[in-house]
Formats: sequence, structure tokens, C-alpha cells
Amino acid sequence: MKYPWGTDRRYYSYTDYLKQRFGERVQKLTVNAGFTCPNRDGSVGRGGCTYCDNRAFNPSYNSSCKPVTQQLAEGIEFHKIRYRRVKKYVAYFQAYSNTYAPLEELKKIYQPALEYPDVIGIVVGTRPDCVNAEILDYFAELAKDKYIVLEYGIESVLDKTLQAINRGHDFETTRFAIEESARRGIRTGGHMIIGLPGEEKSDWMSAMKVLSALPLNNIKFHQLQIIKGTRMALEFRDHPERFRDFSMEEYLQLMTDLIEHLNPAFSIERIAGEIGLDMGVRKGWGIRYDQVLRRFETILEERETWQGRLYSHT
Ligand code: SF4
Repeated sequence: MKYPWGTDRRYYSYTDYLKQRFGERVQKLTVNAGFTCPNRDGSVGRGGCTYCDNRAFNPSYNSSCKPVTQQLAEGIEFHKIRYRRVKKYVAYFQAYSNTYAPLEELKKIYQPALEYPDVIGIVVGTRPDCVNAEILDYFAELAKDKYIVLEYGIESVLDKTLQAINRGHDFETTRFAIEESARRGIRTGGHMIIGLPGEEKSDWMSAMKVLSALPLNNIKFHQLQIIKGTRMALEFRDHPERFRDFSMEEYLQLMTDLIEHLNPAFSIERIAGEIGLDMGVRKGWGIRYDQVLRRFETILEERETWQGRLYSHT
């Protein structure tokens, strides 16, 4: 059976989307352009989001960044050896807030990346409060002939949660950024955390409705992972009862319930996160992401369901 996205996979996989759009496998190359974050440097807040990995904010980390084009060259070289058939790449600016700089500086970073041979586009991860009309107009101009995605950290659609995790912005800011990007013809992605303290299944079910009404193209889901050394790790130590600890099976059954209500036009890039074995405060699932994904697909089959089966526009 073919699903609305034209494949027989029971959810709209982002990998399938890229293959459909570009006719071949496209490899993402993660690039660090040395940005910081306004929720760290005091312009929005200090201390950052409570779950944010402090180690990433070691000052030597960013200053030791290689030039973007060098990172691309090394990434392409690495993948050429590993996956001989890959010929197209997307540069993924993931770390921190990749629009947190004046426009002229952004141009100096993104122009060379887009001109690099075999790089067909960029995915720019950022906070919803780190874009403005000028920046969005710039990306909209690029999007006329390149593959451009602005990937926003959404994390929760509830203001009380955003406040509790010290995001430094509300959900209306997120909605506005996504709508303004889409209105200009820029593709949009979102990142959601499932399992933040104070939230429960009914909140995540309602979130599917809220998200589905946004003009998003891609979405990533992560289960909450509490990283050692974060403010959230201290909160967990003092109040473990506030946190849900999903087994993999519980989480994947929940994800199945959630994506049944998710807009079938959104491609799903991830359904769960991965962190290093010794990074988490809680014991992880001890299983590779491809195995998690395989079990997820099996659950969809066992339950004879698929993304968007219970989705309605109203
Ligand atoms: S917005 Fe991102 S980089 Fe900034 S503090 Fe929060 S999680 Fe960390």
C-alpha cells in the first residue's frame, strides 16, 4: 500500500523525502560555524535552557572551530570513502543558534557553504527568537534556487513548560517565526522534546494538533535525556518524581499514538534521540538508533496504523 507521501513506509521519513526530491541519497554534513546562544550570553538569559549540555559551552570549543569550507571538505572526503554512491550534500548548522549574528556575518558563513561543490543546500538550526525580517528575507532569497531549511527548537507548545525549562521565549514567538519563514517560501523544521517535567500524555497529544496546524515541513522528536552537569540534572536529583522515565517500548508505543495525529505532510526526521553512553544521568536504552527505528516500524505494522491516520484539519 502506498501512503499519502508516496512510499510504503508507514510514516513520512525525511530520508525518503530527500530521495524523492533530489532523486538520490543526500548526505547531511554537520558543521559548526562557531555561533553562541543568546540564552547563555545574557542578551536573553544566562545559564541557558535547563537541559542544555554545559560542556558544549566550553569557550575553547567554538574558538577552535575550523573554517566551514574546511569542515565541508573533510566531511565530504569521509563520506566519499564510506558511501561511495553519495554525491549530494546538505550542510547542517546544528550547534547553538545559527542565526545569532548580524546579517553581514551570516552571509560570510552561508554563502561559501552554498557555493561549495556538491553542497545543494543548508539546514540552519536556531531559536525562534533569533530571526527577524531582514534575516528571513535573506534566507528567502537563497531559497529561490537552493534547498534552505530553518530548523527551530520548539521543544514544547506550552508556555508554562518553556518557562520552567528557561527557554527565554514563549510559544507565540515560535509560531510567529515558523509562519513568517513559511510565508517567505523558506522550508521549516521543528524539534520537540517528549517527556519534559510537568507534561503528560494529554499535553503531547494536544501538541500534535497545535504542531500539525503550523506550516512545518520536517519534524524531529527526542525523548527527554537528562545530561550530567546540567541544571536539569540537579532538578532530577532533588525531584526525580517529576520526570517520566520511558522504557523504549513505552516510548515507541507513545510515539505511535502521537504520530497517528500528526499532519501527514510533515516528514519525520527523527523519532528519538541518542547521546553518548556516559553522558546521561539515567541509564539509556542501550540500543542503536537504527534498531529503535526498526522496532518503531514493527509497532506501526502490529497496530496496523500510520502517520496521520487520525489527523484531521479541524
Ligand atoms: S537555546 Fe539551545 S544552545 Fe541555547 S541554551 Fe537552549 S538548548 Fe542551549
